[in-house]
Amino acid sequence: MSVLINDIEVVKTETSKINDIDFDNLKFGQVYSDHMLVCDYENGAWKAPKVMPYQNISLEPSAKIFHYGQSVFEGMKAYKDADGGVWLFRPMENFNRLNISSKRLAIPEIPEAYFLDGLKTLLEVDQDWIPQKEGSSLYIRPFVFASGTGLHASPANAYKFIICTAPSGSYFSGKVKVLIETKYSRSANGGVGYAKAGGNYAGQFYPTQLAIDKGYQQVIWTDDTSHEYIEEAGAMNVFIRINDTLITSPTSDRILDGITRKSLIDLARSKGINVEVRKIKVSELVEAAENGSLKELFGAGTAAVISPIAGFGYQGKDYELPELKETYASSLKKAITDIQTNKAEDPFGWRYKV
Ligand code: PMP
Repeated sequence: MSVLINDIEVVKTETSKINDIDFDNLKFGQVYSDHMLVCDYENGAWKAPKVMPYQNISLEPSAKIFHYGQSVFEGMKAYKDADGGVWLFRPMENFNRLNISSKRLAIPEIPEAYFLDGLKTLLEVDQDWIPQKEGSSLYIRPFVFASGTGLHASPANAYKFIICTAPSGSYFSGKVKVLIETKYSRSANGGVGYAKAGGNYAGQFYPTQLAIDKGYQQVIWTDDTSHEYIEEAGAMNVFIRINDTLITSPTSDRILDGITRKSLIDLARSKGINVEVRKIKVSELVEAAENGSLKELFGAGTAAVISPIAGFGYQGKDYELPELKETYASSLKKAITDIQTNKAEDPFGWRYKV
């Protein structure tokens, strides 16, 4: 039986899984909430979205997603404050980026109302799944893929837009050691690096596994032509602190325009930290590590928020970061999560009440 919530058709599950979930010991993205939002593109238009029980979907073997990889996604979080208020962080940024990614992959763009009202309705239906514990949140995964069939290498004529959610704890535990990659590239000029295309991540797995086999946890990507410039850290943007200056690469065709990255730039500047958005060479990082001016290196992204890096490997040599008592990483992480979880003022207007 279906009901209408915010004018969206909702079919509720008859068997909630919520009592099986240990909310005190959540991992990242491993259990899924009771419902999902599904929206179909057929005959040249997106149809009205529906909320339905989280379940398998049926696709023909000739669906183009399996052959030509037309798929894009987003990653965002919902937070519950101490009074039970539910918040998103800059959701329009995710909406816009999803459509930027879709456009690059020749996928039809989603109307704003389907994304935002659909998401709000889904969160209303599954509000009990949003963890309140510090460090936990409801990870939200919107994605769009080609469900239309055909073995001709051309865009599909049918797509699915789905949002599923996963109550999650923190992404990484502890500091990581990274390898600066100089052979493989995650993206190239004119390519799809700036899009959150599924295939970008598939292409990262093999070089990342090689780095793991060598004792690192992640890869720092360098530019594809010279391999001299630092670009991203795994699936995160990267920040480098030399003395008291924070440096991050400018976004480009090859670098994802991270929402955490742009928020941290504004937040750091508002705290009086000098932030330089400029290209930075691996040789500058190595030199700073050698002369002691390299203070911090960290990744920034929705999943981990900020992931401090303990050391890096480059051309067969390992470099360690100093152990500082007070870091930009921890003060910025606290500042951004306090805004996200409604614990602090939000002078930027980033927080969005659901
Ligand atoms: N770079 C890549 C390649 C990513 O996949 C992500 C995660 N979305 C980021 C950076 C960080 O982006 P955001 O802060 O918007 O999560």
